[in-house]
Amino acid sequence: MKIETEIREQFKKTFGDPAGTMYASAGRINLIGEHTDYNGGFVFPGAIDKCIMAEIRPNGTDRVRLRSVDMDDSAEFGLEESDKPEQMWARYVFGVCREIIKRGGRVGGFDAVFAGNVPLGAGLSSSAALESVFAFALNDLFNDGRIDPFELARIGQSTEHNYCGVNCGIMDQFASIFGRKNKLIRLDCRSMEHEYFPFEPEGYRLVLVDSVVKHELVGSPYNRRRESCERVAARLGLDCLRDAGYDDLERVRGDISDEDYSRAHFVIGEKQRVLDVCEALGRGDYETVGRCMYETHEGLSKEYEVSCEELDFLNDVARKEGVTGSRIMGGGFGGCTINLVKNELYDKFIDAAVSKFEARYGHKPKIYDVIISDGAHKC
Ligand code: ADP
Ligand code: MG
Repeated sequence: MKIETEIREQFKKTFGDPAGTMYASAGRINLIGEHTDYNGGFVFPGAIDKCIMAEIRPNGTDRVRLRSVDMDDSAEFGLEESDKPEQMWARYVFGVCREIIKRGGRVGGFDAVFAGNVPLGAGLSSSAALESVFAFALNDLFNDGRIDPFELARIGQSTEHNYCGVNCGIMDQFASIFGRKNKLIRLDCRSMEHEYFPFEPEGYRLVLVDSVVKHELVGSPYNRRRESCERVAARLGLDCLRDAGYDDLERVRGDISDEDYSRAHFVIGEKQRVLDVCEALGRGDYETVGRCMYETHEGLSKEYEVSCEELDFLNDVARKEGVTGSRIMGGGFGGCTINLVKNELYDKFIDAAVSKFEARYGHKPKIYDVIISDGAHKC
């Protein structure tokens, strides 16, 4: 059944008439720009055609009553800090309410039913979609839309930090709120300025291949990478690697470890690749976009060393099948590859990826087709 129909039916059954207002927000991909955010560089995400929808109606009380269709579960809570609900899924909504209130916004009681088709925990940021749909809706219903969209993204991010124990950046919520059909958004993680670029890959499809593996990380590999970047930046007398070029790196090569050199080399290259991809998109040159994606994968695998056997395997399959671009999406050590594939190669690539991966690793990868679509909106 269509998500919207299911929500409408359950809303009527649970809360009765009149109907509430329907809102939606989306999951996201990041085409290129990995491990750049904490180096003051660029990310390049877009919202996708996988979303969470919520039907919401203020109820004139100070209580929130929620029904999650996908969890087949309900929750009820007040709006004070001490009212934090038991269920994890409800904490995302509670957190958004609290973060709006903390910023001086208004949230009254409401009834809501929500459901979605963003796969959970697959790297498409279902949690940001959930935060964003409620942040956007509560801004519309209780605050006459006065909260600035960037603040809505921050409300989602603070929800993760303060109520869900996830210390994330701003990209996911940003993409979910700001996303537009056929546009990717380059976000400058230092100035927080953003710019839209056309993404209409006629003749190509974007598809994610989810390895469904997540390697247990020993130590703090992400922190170590961050520290490498900080050390090199400090050696160069810079706040962050954003301002460094390859020449600068060569100048200090003798003073830094090989490991720090490799990490910084990746970050400097990655900043430039985002800019190159943006320029290529302006020309509609998807072959260059694809080439940059492969370069990012190489860098993540060999220089930044955050890949894993399964993701390198999927990248190899893509290369052999003539896929235009393919790379790890996300922090690494598991999760998905994102692939830009010519229409005519699509079926053959998917067949090869699924069968070869299964033969090697004993389980099938999951396949998610994505189309760049609108982010948070009223339906
Ligand atoms: P992701 O990478 O998809 O964001 P997270 O672990 O950050 O993965 O967030 C997933 C969590 O978000 C789920 O465990 C659940 O609590 C909540 N969530 C996401 N989508 C839904 C949904 N459709 N219905 C209920 N809860 C959801
Ligand atoms: Mg998440």
